[in-house]
Amino acid sequence: RAKSNGRNRYEFFNASLKAEIIRNKRVADDILNGLERAEFVPYFQPQFDARTLDIVGVEALARWVHPSEGVLAPDAFLKTAGELNVIPMIDRAILEQTLWQSARWKAAGVTIPKMSVNVSAGRLYDDDLIESLNGLVFDRGTLSFELLESIFLDDNNETIVANIAQLKALGIDVEIDDFGTGYASIVSLVQVKPTRLKIDRQLIAPVVQSQSQRNLVASIIDIGQSLGIKVVAEGIESREHAAILRDIGCDTLQGYALAKPMNSEEFIDFVRAERWRSAA
Ligand code: C2E
Ligand code: MG
Ligand code: MG
Ligand code: MG
Repeated sequence: RAKSNGRNRYEFFNASLKAEIIRNKRVADDILNGLERAEFVPYFQPQFDARTLDIVGVEALARWVHPSEGVLAPDAFLKTAGELNVIPMIDRAILEQTLWQSARWKAAGVTIPKMSVNVSAGRLYDDDLIESLNGLVFDRGTLSFELLESIFLDDNNETIVANIAQLKALGIDVEIDDFGTGYASIVSLVQVKPTRLKIDRQLIAPVVQSQSQRNLVASIIDIGQSLGIKVVAEGIESREHAAILRDIGCDTLQGYALAKPMNSEEFIDFVRAERWRSAA
């Protein structure tokens, strides 16, 4: 009896494991095809000056325009893409298209001061990171790399230190993304000297209910600014969030209350119509 139960369990496990492997294999094949067919595109979410509500930049966020599933956000593909080691290819595709779109906007009379792209943690360990940027055309100071905070755990690593220095030498800004949710955050501010830090939306969400949370966020803003680092708040989901962050001195705001990520056409319409000024 025990033996047959064991075998049933084994067979059940085996069947579900097999299904999982098949599913992953299908997603993996899909991703590789998608890369070939250029299905990974940037959506654009503007960032606003907290006081004037002028657009000061835009974050490019990867979307997979899937032939049958529609437009997919990164949580649907980044994990499998990581297992396939193709995140650098996705990042590259997003970066190229972002530069290309910004040139189109400029030709159409819309100049966005800064384009930010997300760069996966592993890339900073990559000896070829800087070489891989050869051939890209951008003006100094108009391009920014958002780096997840967790990478700065290894701030003694020579490749990381050299890569950051060379990015800055190329005129590419370095930002720390999701600040406040990882480790070694304060130390990384001094060691990396990022142009900007982005306070994670988990820290921003509770500021409307909690005075101590407001104090905490205000202190992070002070620390950043005292080091000459601009501070961005992510996850501005209401007008109240926007007002509070402005009042405690945050430089830049990003979030659904002001604008959601949009495709290139929607984005240029949005900017031309100055749609956020009536919404916010
Ligand atoms: P992130 O870089 O921290 O980007 C912010 C995420 O918050 C985006 O999710 C954005 O759509 C979402 N968001 C913006 N405003 C609000 C708001 O007011 N409320 C809420 N609840 N969410 C808001 P998304 O686009 O799903 O991206 C998720 C993560 O995937 C990004 O987090 C980033 O870590 C990663 N990612 C996105 N694009 C790329 C890429 O091209 N390359 C790499 N390596 N990672 C990427
Ligand atoms: Mg980001
Ligand atoms: Mg973030
Ligand atoms: Mg994030």
